[in-house]
This record gives sequence, structure tokens and C-alpha cells, in this order.
Amino acid sequence: MTAATSLRAQIKLLDSAGELLRVHERIGSRFEAAAIAQRISRAGGPAVMFENVDDLGIPVVLGTDATRERVALSLGAAPREVIDVFARALDQPIAPVVVESGPVQEVVRTGGQVDLRRLPILTHFENDAGPYITSGMVVAEDPESGIRNVSYHRMQVVGRDELRVVIVPRHLYAIQEKFERTGRALPVAVVVGADSAVRLAAGTSGSAVPLGFDEFGISGGLRGNPEHLVRCVSNGVHVPANAELVIEGEILAGVRRSEGPFAEFAGFYKPASDRHVLSVTAITHRADPIYQGLISGSEEQLLLMGLPNEPAMMRSIRGGVPGALSIHVTSGGLFKFHVILSIEKRHEGDGKDAIIAAFAAHRDVKMVTVVDADVDPFDLHAVERAVATWFQADRDMVIVSGGKANPVERQQGPGGTTSRLGMDATASLIPSGDMITRARIPGADELDLSRFL
Ligand code: MN
Repeated sequence: MTAATSLRAQIKLLDSAGELLRVHERIGSRFEAAAIAQRISRAGGPAVMFENVDDLGIPVVLGTDATRERVALSLGAAPREVIDVFARALDQPIAPVVVESGPVQEVVRTGGQVDLRRLPILTHFENDAGPYITSGMVVAEDPESGIRNVSYHRMQVVGRDELRVVIVPRHLYAIQEKFERTGRALPVAVVVGADSAVRLAAGTSGSAVPLGFDEFGISGGLRGNPEHLVRCVSNGVHVPANAELVIEGEILAGVRRSEGPFAEFAGFYKPASDRHVLSVTAITHRADPIYQGLISGSEEQLLLMGLPNEPAMMRSIRGGVPGALSIHVTSGGLFKFHVILSIEKRHEGDGKDAIIAAFAAHRDVKMVTVVDADVDPFDLHAVERAVATWFQADRDMVIVSGGKANPVERQQGPGGTTSRLGMDATASLIPSGDMITRARIPGADELDLSRFL
């Protein structure tokens, strides 16, 4: 299987797999599209394409990356291979190549033709301040160092050509700060509408790849082929040639304006505060663009942000505990807080050390459950059974108090702290004499059930 190289290629794959619902009736961009998409997602339904949103002539798609299976389909891999494919992309990124032209610039709008209100940008939650671009990946390039960065930021639409952008102290912040110190606006591009490889690359956090690591090397690595980039029409930033739509502009130096409120990924509102301002200089898109939406807190958002954690954490954990086998960063733990890890236990201390390694692998990790090699971390029933039969709280539990809490935690300790819990549910290697042999019925595993069903 070969990987999709554009959103529309991924949509074709979803269509043939019966994983896409097309809605032909006119749908409103204010709440209506988000409501339908949220209900479909919560019911475990397919990706959804709204063919007509506000009669704007641009369809809106959501849910293309809402499940591991859909992501795997786009990457041309089996669902269980995704972690390995991802780990390889992090270890062996493939540098992007710049090409002369690409479909994302089939239509170019500059100057007075720039109007964000002609795009079907959705308004999602009741108290949100207005329409928000939630799926936008911001590309920035530092012309002196050559450092390129790709990352997600929520953007509130204000009028024809202004976005209020949330930039917390990570990579983009560092680049912008450097420009701001010398009074310069930072040229950027916002990419909307891409396949899983680009979206996952943008979702890979700074704890997995340092500043200076070009995230487009990850999308190339994920597909096994370099990302093709074109130069923006109004600045020197480069964007994927096969994207659907690009908003070019600059983040103004020394300017902050009110942004919010907005419903955050944990399902609560972030109140309004003063944020960075992006002034739009151009909008380019395909001749028939597809706008890609994303609902805050949806399985799709959590998976895009969370899936990169699995390979990145696994790499770090294996450095400390070589017997680490597979990892599941769970949906219920918002794809970042709760980790289930299976290990090939070689030393009595491996369970406890694996817990410490998992805490060290990502600062957001709040709960770690370690199980033996014969327990599948993705089988939550089997994991609970391992805890029920092997885990003793007075002996196998690790609590670390006073670490840094993620801001979305609702009841933090003093000074924004959190406490972390580790559960070692592995079997002891010290012989206890009984109950260690797993019961099996001879022939059961080998049986061909189709003879009877
Ligand atoms: Mn980065």
C-alpha cells in the first residue's frame, strides 16, 4: 500500500473503504456543521464531508483522522504498524524538496481580494468568540538560521484579514520572540487541508523533536517520499504543494489583541486574553479547494496530538528499559496523560524502572500501568485483569508528587503541580511456587473455528 500525498487522495481512500459520509443539503457554518460532526464522531461514525456550507462553494471535511484505522489507511500501513512507521520517520526523516509550482497555488488572492469570510470557517461551541481555524498548521521560517517549524495553533477570525493566534512558549514562540525583539513581523503561512502524514508531523511536539528539526522531514519519513514544498506568493515561507488552502501573512511585532473565549481540548472554556495577531497578506488554494475542519476535544484532535506521543515516548522509554515492547497512550487519558506499557521483564526491577522511564518520557504523563508481554496494552479488559491479579498497591504502586501539571487539569496542586501514579502490574520473577503456569486447553489456540460456525 502506498501512502496518500494529499487530503483529496486520503478522502478517496476513505470513500472506497466506506468511511466517508457525504452531506449534500445546505449546512450552516455556525454550530450546525460542528453539531453534526460531533454527533457522528461520538457515535463512532465515518468521516463527514459537507458539500454545501453557507453556499460558499467550498466543501468542509471533518473526521478524516478520527481513528487509528483511518490514519493507517492514509499512511499505507496496518493500524498496528503505525507506531513503528512513525518511530522510523522520527529516526530517519526525509528532507522536503522545493518545487516550482503546485496545486495549492492554482488560485491566488492578494490585496483587496483577501477575505477570510469567503471561507467556510466553522463556529464550534456555544461560548466561542466566533469562527475559529482549528486545523491550521502554522509554518514559520527563520531566514537567518534556516530553521523551519510546523505547529498547530488555534486562530480566531476577526474580519476580512485578521487572525488572533494562540502561541504558547514552544518553538514558534521562540522564533517569533527573536523577530519581535528587533521590531520585525514574522512571516508565516497557515496550511489548511492535508493528509495524515502532514497533520501528524505538525502534531509532533517539541519534546519529541527539538527546535530546528523540520517537521516536514517527518511527513516525508512517514510516506517514504519527500514532501514537496512551494514558496509562498507574498513571503519566503514554504508550504506543501499538495495542500488544499494556504493563508499567508505575518505575526505582528509587539501587538496583542483579545482572543477567546474558546472551548479547549479538555472540554472547558479558556477565557479571553490578549494574544498574537496575524495579519493576512494572501490566500492561495486549489481550483476546487476542500476546507478541513477539526473539533476541539474530538477523538480526531486528540488522536492527531496524541498519536505522535507513542513512538516518541517509546523511543525514550527503551533507552532506560530495553525490554519495553509496546505502548498505548489511551483515548480516555486524552491521548497524553495515561500510558499502558507492556514489557518483556528480564529483571525484577524492570516494572518500576519502566514507570520512571515513562514519567521521564513526557511531562504530561500522569498514570502509567505496566503489564507483562502476554498482555496486549490495547485490550483494556486484559489490562484491568492484569491489575486485578498481579498488582498490590502497597508494593507495586509509585507516586511522585509535585510535578508540573498540564494547564487543562481542573484541580491542580499548589503552584500548578500534579501527582503521578505508576502501577506495576507485572508478575514477579521471584518464584512463588504456585499459580504461575497459565492454564490452557490443548488444541484451543490451533483450532479452526470455521468448521463449527
Ligand atoms: Mn517544532
